[in-house]
Amino acid sequence: MNTLTEQEILAYLVGADDKELFGRAEATKQEVFGNEVYLRAIIEFSNICDKKCHYCGLRAPNSTISRYRMDVQAIRDTAAAAADAGAGTIVLQSGDDFGYSTQVIGELVRDIKERHDVAVTLSLGDRGLDEYEFWRDCGADRCLLKLETTNPRLYKRIRGGEDFSARLHRVQGIRDMGYEIGSGVIVDQPDSDMITTLRDILFLTQLDLDMIAIGPFIPHPHTPLGNARPGSITLSHRVTALLRILNPHANIPSTSALGTESPKERQRALTRGCNVLMPSMTPEEHRRDYNIYPGKNEAISASKHSLDSAKDMIRSLGLTPSSSKGPSKKSPHVHESSTQNTVGPCAHRETERELVAAD
Ligand code: SAH
Ligand code: SF4
Repeated sequence: MNTLTEQEILAYLVGADDKELFGRAEATKQEVFGNEVYLRAIIEFSNICDKKCHYCGLRAPNSTISRYRMDVQAIRDTAAAAADAGAGTIVLQSGDDFGYSTQVIGELVRDIKERHDVAVTLSLGDRGLDEYEFWRDCGADRCLLKLETTNPRLYKRIRGGEDFSARLHRVQGIRDMGYEIGSGVIVDQPDSDMITTLRDILFLTQLDLDMIAIGPFIPHPHTPLGNARPGSITLSHRVTALLRILNPHANIPSTSALGTESPKERQRALTRGCNVLMPSMTPEEHRRDYNIYPGKNEAISASKHSLDSAKDMIRSLGLTPSSSKGPSKKSPHVHESSTQNTVGPCAHRETERELVAAD
């Protein structure tokens, strides 16, 4: 079991010894995952969003982007192309777009699962727990729902007045249904500091996630945070490496946000503890409009061969691209109803209490 004291984490965060930190993170990953890099094909099927997150280019008030919504047949065809190209996981991601009914998403998931031997991950935002339950019954395997920050006051500000506890409740509710759950934060965003970052690391670790997604803040010109300074890439690498050491069995992607400045950063992350790559398989005509932040979908060649480019990139690092579904290496979660007196759900409630106190 890997442990680090808060002092050690803080020292690494400010750059006490990057060589040692990144070496430890990579050694931890090698022990659990070896040279394998899991590939997740992400289909960004709609950029329509009801929300007003201060950091994101898809926010509803941004009238400068051209909005699209793929129809179900187009999503199915894209998923088929991704599966044929060897993706073991299909990630369906969108803005918080309520234009797709519970039923439509459910049928889409069922169809993909029936036709292809893949895992399906949903990254659809704040949909109801009853909807997530239905989609699980349709065959969805995993969910990705980032907390974005674990500081409730900051959360409220950047998420247009929404409540952190509701987001956390959703993350916990989804995992208690039996999904593999992924979450994460945006590193070095405005009004965060080293203590915020330390708390994020501790909080995410306490949540005991199956997947942890971390990326630096990237200012989008048509958002309220458009003039803010970009988040530090180096700090993002450090946070990812620390999370790897503290969460040896979690799947940790080298995210596209890391690669916006230079594709090299995304490669570096794969040698510093990350074991997952999520190339975009979004059809060419929509990629540029999925403009969450500038540079999105340009990092790994935006062509229909993006899965092949991802594999080549992985091989060039001496690593092995894997077509496996890449399930969580953590022991499976047990449904809440059968764990009433065990440490799992209680520990999560504790996490929430501690955080509120810390704020
Ligand atoms: N609507 C869904 C999923 C799409 S957003 C949701 O919000 O959960 C996907 C991710 O993009 C978000 O979770 C956020 O972490 C990231 N993101 C958005 N804007 C960003 C920015 N300016 N810098 C870095 N990451 C950003
Ligand atoms: Fe919408 Fe998600 Fe962007 Fe927020 S982060 S504006 S919910 S797409």
